[in-house]
Amino acid sequence: MKKAKDILNTTNLTRMVMALAILLTLVAIFLVATKRTPAAMRTTAQAECKSVVMVASGDTLSKLLLEQGLNHNDVNTIAKVLKSDAGISTLRADNDKIEFLRDDDDAPVSKIVVIPSPWRQVELTCNESGAWDCKTVDIERDTRAVYRNGEILDGDSFYLAGQRAGIPAGILADVYDLLAFEMDFERDVRAGQKFSVLYEENFSDGKKIDNGHVLAVSFEALRGNVQMYRFRKSDGTIGYYDADGNGAIKSLKRTPINNAKVTSNFSRKRKHPVLGYTRAHKGVDFRASTGTPIPAAGAGRVVARGYNRGHGNYVKLRHNGSYETLYAHMSRFAKGVNVGTTVRQGQTIGYVGSTGISTGPHLHYEIIKNGVHVNPMTVKLPAISNLDKTDKKKFIEYRKILDDGIEQLSKNPTAYIQL
Ligand SMILES: [Zn+2]
Repeated sequence: MKKAKDILNTTNLTRMVMALAILLTLVAIFLVATKRTPAAMRTTAQAECKSVVMVASGDTLSKLLLEQGLNHNDVNTIAKVLKSDAGISTLRADNDKIEFLRDDDDAPVSKIVVIPSPWRQVELTCNESGAWDCKTVDIERDTRAVYRNGEILDGDSFYLAGQRAGIPAGILADVYDLLAFEMDFERDVRAGQKFSVLYEENFSDGKKIDNGHVLAVSFEALRGNVQMYRFRKSDGTIGYYDADGNGAIKSLKRTPINNAKVTSNFSRKRKHPVLGYTRAHKGVDFRASTGTPIPAAGAGRVVARGYNRGHGNYVKLRHNGSYETLYAHMSRFAKGVNVGTTVRQGQTIGYVGSTGISTGPHLHYEIIKNGVHVNPMTVKLPAISNLDKTDKKKFIEYRKILDDGIEQLSKNPTAYIQL
């Protein structure tokens, strides 16, 4: 009997020690959690009364602050502090969120949290003297690399196959942008081709917030396997490189509009669909609906913007060195695009239309190299950034690690790599 009691006591002691251990662990987890995310601490410790406002179209900072009962003096001070300390001068509708905190329902606002992104929040606290202190808090993110792969089926587009493989739309758009430097989606895509993407997913507090960068992409194109890897050079610049470390981002794009169907190829001689007689087609035609934005194929300067009978509304860009590109049949030009304007690669310069001599809405795109028209689909385009010897060595090592990770993930698609 006594023995049994002792055993019981020992068991109780063990239980107590275990309970204490669990409690300590929970406290530790809580401390870590609160340290990592100030938001968690606030909601548990002092958020007596919180109202959250999602910034809508037409909202201004002063309007929202006045609605919360702040006076004009406070409104002015807060606007000033937000601008000087956090660089925020305007609110963005459907993006920014503001939290107003009070000690109780009837108390004045004592703290304002402006949240411009899931990764950053600006906290304004009313101090003893009635002034507003401003503090920017960066939210720690936990980034994971995930892997998706797929195959082109009969009658498929890469876009459909990508969706089926579970690649999110934003990542798929980035992949298109990357592959467009190397591939012609019209001619290089066939049933049976396999592709894969390794990309980042960002988490905060165990909850997925958004997708990050494309880390690696591979596509079994007709002309050979296209592979690209994201890599940071020693000087801090980030680029994409092929398996051998050659720059994958080219100074110009073969297909300015992603996923547009080629309706007429470059040729030295063809029968013109409207004029009837045979003449060279100095560019490539891409079918797209009227109003589709036309991105600049590369960074450059606008050297012509006007109208002529054949091209209709057109824009001509000069790129660094020997290349020029021309975009014809536009329905209209993009705002602010004038002769002399500098444009970024991908910046919208105009919109698809059917002006000039044209059978329907499309983009007619030309690449001119040293004054001679070349075939945009086959011309060898220069890379923007190449690696020096040291970086190339680092890249090859990094690529091997990434390839190993990809191989592991391809066997276990639900797993991820913690970055
Ligand atoms: Zn054309």
